[in-house]
Amino acid sequence: MNLADTIRTIPDYPKPGIMFRDITTLLGNARAFRQAVDELVQPLAGMKIDKVAGIEARGFILGGAVAHQLSAGFVPLRKKGKLPHRTRAVEYALEYGHDTIEMHLDAVLEGEQVMLVDDLIATGGTALAAIELLTQAKARIAAAAFVVDLPELGGAQRLRDAGIPVSALMSFAGH
Ligand code: AMP
Repeated sequence: MNLADTIRTIPDYPKPGIMFRDITTLLGNARAFRQAVDELVQPLAGMKIDKVAGIEARGFILGGAVAHQLSAGFVPLRKKGKLPHRTRAVEYALEYGHDTIEMHLDAVLEGEQVMLVDDLIATGGTALAAIELLTQAKARIAAAAFVVDLPELGGAQRLRDAGIPVSALMSFAGH
């Protein structure tokens, strides 16, 4: 199955000029969801992954399934103020303003092999903030995997320049 055909594109959402790549149609298609998880796991074949870190919110759905398939633990990386215990936080720039991503202090141990998962990489700002959180916790980032890459926004390249192996199941032109 061509997974790209299962993704719905909504023009001008949430604002004019953005082509929103909606993965809920992929998730709702049983065969597509299984294939996506299989393909996300594939580059990690033979590697021992201790934890999968998923970025709120769509990274939770994919990352939970990936963690199960890898027999790894799952770590939620959440928006500010959502995690109940002690956290570390990294602030990152958005087009207008900034945002903060948080992780529990005890979520990963020093030296653990972690795979980062999210639905989509655009500028890479969110993923790089997640990598900063994991690096502060002294985790080793084995790979970052996304369903969709928007290569014109340069995020995947920024991660590769930082030495992180990056994979994506498909890419779309534009924003
Ligand atoms: P960025 O930090 O620029 O790489 O943006 C990635 C985050 O924003 C991901 O968590 C995506 O879910 C979301 N995102 C950015 N652009 C889009 C888009 N065109 N369609 C769907 N989600 C997007």
